[in-house]
Amino acid sequence: LTAHAQRRVETTGELRRALDQQELRVYYQPVHDLSTGKMVGVEALVRWEHPQRGLIPTGEFIPIAERTGLIAEIDTWVMNRACEQMVQWQANGLLLEFVAVNISSRLFGHRDLYQQVAKVLHETGLNPALLEVEVTESAVMDDPEVALEQLHRLRELGLRLAIDDFGTGYSSLLRLKRLPVQKLKIDQGFVAGLPCDEDDIAIVKVIIALGRSMGMQVHAEGIEQADQAQFLLNHECYLGQGYWFGRPVPAQQLRWQ
Ligand code: C2E
Ligand code: MG
Ligand code: MG
Repeated sequence: LTAHAQRRVETTGELRRALDQQELRVYYQPVHDLSTGKMVGVEALVRWEHPQRGLIPTGEFIPIAERTGLIAEIDTWVMNRACEQMVQWQANGLLLEFVAVNISSRLFGHRDLYQQVAKVLHETGLNPALLEVEVTESAVMDDPEVALEQLHRLRELGLRLAIDDFGTGYSSLLRLKRLPVQKLKIDQGFVAGLPCDEDDIAIVKVIIALGRSMGMQVHAEGIEQADQAQFLLNHECYLGQGYWFGRPVPAQQLRWQ
């Protein structure tokens, strides 16, 4: 084995152990209403706290989890934790409109995804209207017919659906229009170029117009500067997330205004 392959094998075994031995954590990143500045929701993001290596970058272990299929188990675990946390916040009078979780294309392809999500909602007692499920544009467009069926079934549970990393895949506009989706998340790669890069400006404007014309909310990610938030608000994008507002943090470190 090359050093790289060896390392991957080690990490796969370690990831399995991480799940079993509770080394995974859920961090939460605030999502703000760009017109009022208020925090209105959070996105749950997985973190791996390795006992020797410390925090492992998601870019390092998520692709391995995807390849080995472990991601399905991780996603269900994160969803469970996030729903539990949201129930607790509600009980403490800390009110948010949604908690968002990411669903990998691996889990999205499972026929029993619907039952798994229903089980989590039932076990945690979270009002389904407060859960938002994010699926990437490429997961949806890889097999649009299957995706359409999956999304409809999830939607029947009463939760909200968002397309993550929008603009990086190849969407058929006709298909997009038929999806029972409430939100488009503009990929951070386009937000990074605001408010100066002509191409990014054009793309962001088009995504906002597209989302609005289809009756979807538009949410920008990767906002790092005040002028990016201002540009988005000026162009009628009302939801934003990024380091400018706050990094992903453990639940106790979230700042409630
Ligand atoms: P994503 O779902 O698009 O999440 C946004 C990513 O952008 C997060 O990276 C977040 O920390 C980062 N981010 C937020 N604000 C900024 C900013 O202002 N600037 C920059 N440069 N980055 C920002 P993270 O947590 O490392 O996650 C990366 C990706 O890994 C996620 O992208 C998502 O695709 C995946 N991921 C994370 N957690 C999960 C999970 O529980 N399940 C699944 N299936 N995928 C996950
Ligand atoms: Mg996401
Ligand atoms: Mg994204």
